[in-house]
Amino acid sequence: MRYQRPIGTQDVTPEVAPEWRFVEESFRQLAARYGYGELRTPVFEDTDLFLRSVGQETDIASKEMYTFEDRGGRSMTLRAEGTAPAVRAYLENHLDRTDKQRLVKLYYIVPIFRYDRPQAGRYRQHHQLGLEAIGSSEPAVDAEVISLAWNFYAQMGLTGLSLLINSVGCPACAPPYVDKLKQALAPALPQLCESCRRRYVENPLRMLDCKICHDYMAPAPKLIEELCEECESHLGGVLAALDALGIPHEIDHTIVRGLDYYTKTAFEFQIEGIGAQSALGGGGRYDGLVEKCGGPPTPGVGLGIGLERVLLARQQLGQAVTGTAGFPAREGVFIVALGEAVWIEALKLLQELRRAGVKAELDYRRRSMKAQLRFADNEQFAQAIILGEDELAKGIVGLKDLATGEQVEVGRTDLSSRLGPA
Ligand code: AMP
Repeated sequence: MRYQRPIGTQDVTPEVAPEWRFVEESFRQLAARYGYGELRTPVFEDTDLFLRSVGQETDIASKEMYTFEDRGGRSMTLRAEGTAPAVRAYLENHLDRTDKQRLVKLYYIVPIFRYDRPQAGRYRQHHQLGLEAIGSSEPAVDAEVISLAWNFYAQMGLTGLSLLINSVGCPACAPPYVDKLKQALAPALPQLCESCRRRYVENPLRMLDCKICHDYMAPAPKLIEELCEECESHLGGVLAALDALGIPHEIDHTIVRGLDYYTKTAFEFQIEGIGAQSALGGGGRYDGLVEKCGGPPTPGVGLGIGLERVLLARQQLGQAVTGTAGFPAREGVFIVALGEAVWIEALKLLQELRRAGVKAELDYRRRSMKAQLRFADNEQFAQAIILGEDELAKGIVGLKDLATGEQVEVGRTDLSSRLGPA
């Protein structure tokens, strides 16, 4: 073959599309039920938006972005994460309608591009089901975002899920903690992996979630024990709201999320059984981001759910919708056109049925009646319309129920009312 899809990307073929659609539609419906409106932003943005928001020293900004110069010499980057574009759109479109206290709730389903080493569950183009709630610092809003995801996973039939939660503090309490962390880990520095030796300087919190250096992290103080009063009380509020909603959770001080914009709440959903990439989704609060993007000080909280990982987990648990399964057993009408003389009439009938909302197809290969009926049956059509020269002359068609095999004659003009929308 001359061409192959780029490494770390996937094709969604008609065979698997029903499963993708099912997951996406379920998320849309749930988000709407929680009062989140849909947001669609461009696939590429000003590179600076990502650099400034996620932070230059993060993995995303330092080595994973798909960046290019456009013909006008501007640096553009394919969407590297979902929150910064959402905040940009929030500000640019005045979604707060000038009421700074207004809670703006957005959801999106978008492709994300990161140049990472592909493996099972990790792609260079993946998709996220995202939520952002901008305009409130109320802990119950953090809990709402988490509960939407929790309910979504349950609806997807996923079990064995854990919710890990932490607080990464704020500009008041995080920097003194980082100093303590560096002091505590300095003696172990020569033993740490290359990335952690870099993180020690550039992004020390990220050392906490390194899988390789895990054993050297024992002397690290816990940020959760060093929070300022405001952050501590906020975390207490989130945990109390989660308890009230009946969502089990575990404090895990290694959940730091790694992006510069996170403040206070950080969380991750993990599931067993889908391999090393066990994070099904994650998110947190970003109270400084709107201001960083040029807006007034505005708190926000959000999350991203990895669509491909949800699909993977559903597959592992035998929940996936495959082929025609999960759809109404039979649907629509197949027009069996027999002979040259009826062809134009068959095309008109096809158009008429589709306009009336009926799923309808015909055989452009014009095979034998037997072959057409077999095909219609295999493709799970509910009925077949048989249109030959005799029927055309009499102004009727044969209507065959493909499940029972029963066939009746119906007047051509009565057909639409008889079939109705699918
Ligand atoms: P993040 O934007 O890194 O917080 O990611 C949110 C969620 O998206 C993660 O919890 C994963 O489920 C999913 N995800 C992140 N990166 C990838 C990737 N490279 N391939 C597939 N899924 C990913």
